[in-house]
Amino acid sequence: MAETFNRSAHSAAFEVAADLLAGSTHTVVLAGAGMSKESGIPTFRGEGGLWTINGEPPLNQYDTFSQDPGRWWERRLEEGRSDGFAQALEQSEPNNGHRALAELEDMGIVSHLITQNIDDLHRRAGQTSITEIHGNRYWLRCISCERRWPRQEYTIDEAALPPTCDHCSGVIKSDTVMFGEPIPPTALRRSGDETAQADLFMTIGTSALVYPAAQYPIEALQRGLPLIEINPEPTPLTELATVAIPGPSGQVLPALVELVRKRLANTVARKNHQED
Ligand code: NAD
Ligand code: ZN
Repeated sequence: MAETFNRSAHSAAFEVAADLLAGSTHTVVLAGAGMSKESGIPTFRGEGGLWTINGEPPLNQYDTFSQDPGRWWERRLEEGRSDGFAQALEQSEPNNGHRALAELEDMGIVSHLITQNIDDLHRRAGQTSITEIHGNRYWLRCISCERRWPRQEYTIDEAALPPTCDHCSGVIKSDTVMFGEPIPPTALRRSGDETAQADLFMTIGTSALVYPAAQYPIEALQRGLPLIEINPEPTPLTELATVAIPGPSGQVLPALVELVRKRLANTVARKNHQED
């Protein structure tokens, strides 16, 4: 059931955020698991999050993989992934928040999205300029040269595990970044470069506790950029944000897009009037 969010109680915050977005041509966004909650995928942290309920999982997944990648692949191919989280991911569809964010890209406002989500929903909603800083569960990656392939296009030879890269012979793993695994340097570089070019930063559905992802809004603030936060719960960024809208992204983002469209239409109308 959709959470009830009283938009009118936050109309001043909506106006400030819409002004900032309408004046921006290079917004960089950091998105987290909260964006996909309305698509039926549970978050890890926050109210009702998987870790909030069950505690944190083992933090040495990457050690286990590195010690014996062949064994890891055998197990993965035998068992697949059938836990509740995997099922929620399989059944998920983009929500109105994903679609509204993709619209902000179409409108020339959002220039880049750094997402911590592995669920592919941003791309399916039409977003094109994306860094998946924690990878994508439907892709594979070479741990040496960082080339990536859609999982479906890659044939794994079960007699020769782990699969290795045709280009550099490096070991291939699932693209999702495991606990204890370094973030691929290309993703870090791109996120840093895009943040350095931003004129506005927006965080959506992230607890802003996972580093290095959480460093990008901090860097933006240090450069004096305005920050918009969308999250029903407070985070370490809430007090630092220029404006924080405490609602679910599936409701907040479409409402914001509507306000931004009106502002841009008014600007065009005023310009045409001046030119008449
Ligand atoms: P998180 O689980 O730490 O925090 C989620 C945040 O979302 C919380 O701050 C919560 O208040 C907020 N939230 C809850 N409902 C929301 C809504 N409807 N709209 C907006 N915000 C909402 O997520 P995280 O900070 O992204 O870190 C956990 C890591 O686990 C991620 O980096 C990601 O790699 C992985 N993860 C991915 C998915 C996914 O792909 N969908 C889901 C869970 C976890
Ligand atoms: Zn390679």
